Amino acid sequence: MERHESNAETNPFDAMVSRFNIAAEKLKLDDGLYQILLTPDREISVAIPVQMDNGNLRVFKGYRVQHSLARGPGKGGIRYAPDVTLDEIRALAAWMTWKCAVANIPFGGAKGGIICDPSQLSSAELEKITRRYTASLIDVLGPDRDVPAPDVNTDERVMAWIMDTYSMHMRHTVTGVVTGKPLDLGGSVGRNEATGRGCKIVCDRATSRFGMKREHTRVIIQGFGNVGSMAARILNESGYQIIGVTDIHGGVFNPLGINVTKLIAHAKEARTVVGFPDAEPISGNEILEQPCEILLPAATENQITSHNADKIRARIICEGANGPTTAQADQILYDKKIFIIPDILANAGGVTVSYFEWVQDRQGYFWNLKTVNERLEESMVNSFDTVAAYADRHGVNMRIAAYMLAIDRVAFTIRERGIYA
Ligand code: NAD
Repeated sequence: MERHESNAETNPFDAMVSRFNIAAEKLKLDDGLYQILLTPDREISVAIPVQMDNGNLRVFKGYRVQHSLARGPGKGGIRYAPDVTLDEIRALAAWMTWKCAVANIPFGGAKGGIICDPSQLSSAELEKITRRYTASLIDVLGPDRDVPAPDVNTDERVMAWIMDTYSMHMRHTVTGVVTGKPLDLGGSVGRNEATGRGCKIVCDRATSRFGMKREHTRVIIQGFGNVGSMAARILNESGYQIIGVTDIHGGVFNPLGINVTKLIAHAKEARTVVGFPDAEPISGNEILEQPCEILLPAATENQITSHNADKIRARIICEGANGPTTAQADQILYDKKIFIIPDILANAGGVTVSYFEWVQDRQGYFWNLKTVNERLEESMVNSFDTVAAYADRHGVNMRIAAYMLAIDRVAFTIRERGIYA
């Protein structure tokens, strides 16, 4: 059987396939399952005609990819960005399959995206785009089919519009169709900060593995949106020193430590970390190369590549973002003995609490923050320890171990269910 060969370093689907190939080889995955696991179950592309505020009509393009529904309904965010591509959504959907399997929650993997620039759209235009996209996908979404969540440039307001549109079509309120909703519409406490909290939990596991003390652990964070800002706050509250932060506009650096509460207040006001008075300005590229114990990319794909991997001076990389490191960079970092907590493990806190939200919506019974956080901690610790044990047992790095564990779990389910002919 011909296997998929990956080539372009920054193509996200190829990046996923490179790691998949190594893990599949180690697992001696047979060709049939190899084909099934690499072929998305369903890929949908929709045209979204919208009447803009100025009265003109514009057509946007949207995607939803359901990579695997073997272990349960599809689960995965929706992103709004001008550079969304089908290959990117395809890769992100596959990563969701592996992430849900690593976290051992009963979901498959899916992802969606709309090619648009939200900064150039009014709230009314965004709402129309969201509702029309939802209506176009009405047959494939649902609490038992596919459950979207926020991702880059989407938030609880967007989730509320999706929930409302879906409910209007179903003729009754269906809160479980999306997660990351506002609290009074069936959202879960703790969801907003869950991905950042999950990053902190796996950082705790990694630092204790290396006997590192929190107060001597310097952290640099790339991206100051949902994941980056929450991770910064929670890591800082538990004693880690945040010494550098960037966003799309630039960065700030203070080797003595940044007051994260003040930085969050500044970023809220200025809509960027740039200009924060108690730190030096630094470029987005430079900051990645500063010495630190933990580098936490929480922005977007392809930030650590073969061009800058050899300049990274961190002990641990905790991947808050999806796909921040290319496959070529993996090898360079591995040779430098940098310990990577891979995305499909490190940022699984978000989907784990999304799962809790879905469970609460279906039960109609809501948990308190203590329960959510305790269950998140238990789940993240289990996942980290299972991947670390897998890595030690098979003599592979954490990323390949996470892929092996995920592929093994999904392949097992497919074999058990059998192939419906
Ligand atoms: P967000 O839109 O809230 O924030 C993104 C941040 O990254 C912003 O601060 C933006 O300015 C910054 N950024 C973008 N490009 C940058 C660049 N080149 N250099 C520096 N900063 C840059 O998005 P988010 O929800 O925080 O998601 C960030 C990443 O985490 C994405 O890869 C997403 O898929 C992943 N993720 C998010 C969640 C979640 O719960 N939100 C869960 C799992 C994974």
